Amino acid sequence: MLNKHWEYVIIGTGPAGLGAAFELLEKKVKGKILMLDREKFSTGGLRNDCKMNFTYPVGFPQEFWEKEEAHHYLDRVENILKPPVKQKNNLETYQKRCRPLDVNLLEIRQAHLGTDGGLELIKELTARLRESGVTIELGREVLEVSENKVRLEEGEISFDKLIIAPGRKGFRFLQSAMGSLDIDYLDNIIDIGIRVETEEEHYPIVRDYYDPKFHFPGRVRTFCTNSGSAHVVRERYTSKNGSTYYSVNGHAYSKKERNGLVNFAMLKTVRLTEPLASGQDYAEMLGLQAALLGGGKPIMQRVGDFRMGKRSKLASFNDDLYSFKPTLDCTPGDLSLVMPGKILRAIWKSMKELDTIIPGILHPSTIMYYPEIKLYANKPEFRDRTFRVKDNIWMIGDGAGTSRGITAAWASGIRAAESMV
Ligand SMILES: Cc1cc2nc3c(=O)[nH]c(=O)nc-3n(C[C@H](O)[C@H](O)[C@H](O)COP(=O)(O)OP(=O)(O)OC[C@H]3O[C@@H](n4cnc5c(N)ncnc54)[C@H](O)[C@@H]3O)c2cc1C
Repeated sequence: MLNKHWEYVIIGTGPAGLGAAFELLEKKVKGKILMLDREKFSTGGLRNDCKMNFTYPVGFPQEFWEKEEAHHYLDRVENILKPPVKQKNNLETYQKRCRPLDVNLLEIRQAHLGTDGGLELIKELTARLRESGVTIELGREVLEVSENKVRLEEGEISFDKLIIAPGRKGFRFLQSAMGSLDIDYLDNIIDIGIRVETEEEHYPIVRDYYDPKFHFPGRVRTFCTNSGSAHVVRERYTSKNGSTYYSVNGHAYSKKERNGLVNFAMLKTVRLTEPLASGQDYAEMLGLQAALLGGGKPIMQRVGDFRMGKRSKLASFNDDLYSFKPTLDCTPGDLSLVMPGKILRAIWKSMKELDTIIPGILHPSTIMYYPEIKLYANKPEFRDRTFRVKDNIWMIGDGAGTSRGITAAWASGIRAAESMV
């Protein structure tokens, strides 16, 4: 049975929550620290591929982070995590090809642990926290939050100070917490796009640069590239009315046998203005539309079929040109039937530009999976730059829009915890 009162409660054991917990220990706070997570295994997004980016602005929403302060926190994150930083080669060659197209290839300091390496890191970090006296309770979902209590199925716990870091998948919980705490929020920005899967020989840049970040005109970018033993996966979401839909995603193992495949997202950022609608409701509608046409699964289409203007069928995946099997079981279909025209056009144009920079990506066998949705924009009205929303409550991480990746989520945790003490 848990104590009824804790000085510090942290909801979520993802990188944002971990960053806060380590900072509270660093500051040698006197009170007891409790971390709660609804999953049985810690911890959030560190589990998936675990690429860590150490260059601003990757992962840092610029409205909340200046370059210098982000780098100050990035140094501290790197000091705790000590990941092996990857080499990059031949950047100038790629950058030269980008310039005439007005495409920007960011030069990012990167580390990559893979999903297997991420699991080891999580075990090590949580063991360190437990040894230092932090209580980590897994499989405990927080159902409700008030100004001095959180409610679990097992009962209520009171706190002096609270960090809420439930990640993107906790967006509905965050919204309900903002409702009960009477905090205004904005959720007008979302990223929608596709996941591309191809053979490594058609995207060989990954041998020079593990996760190349291309920014195209039209607010399209590459995101979360995986190679080695790379797999496309799906995340399950439940809509407001209880229907299921999926977003695709990707990850890779670093220690398993290579499968010769690469995957990465092509995302377009959409900012909704007048009449201001909820980005999440919009994304949900698109997710449900894809699930409807995919018979409950995401949709996939070969580039060869897309170019010919015809849907993919099972046969599209058996021909001699189609030399690899999709790593995710999806429904062969037609992207142009499910994607909004403006998003599809912007992404296809960027794919053509990418194919000019790295010839091969538009090989007929390349697969485009849809939808990839990033639900991270539940931005609360913060009281200050430390992500405080009430005198004793902070909201951080991807769910609250203070980060878009592991290192920035961790940095958000440090910043909030500094302000707590
Ligand atoms: C497949 C995949 C691959 C990714 N690859 C990378 C990558 O390589 N590099 C990178 O930088 N980023 C990557 N990301 C993004 C990265 O995971 C996030 O940016 C990061 O995890 C955000 O951290 P967070 O702490 O805000 O949230 P999370 O890591 O999502 O953690 C939130 C935690 O809160 C818990 N929670 C939610 N609601 C409740 C509740 N009501 N009660 C109790 N607990 C709750 C969740 O179970 C979860 O463990 C990837 C994401 C996915 C899904």
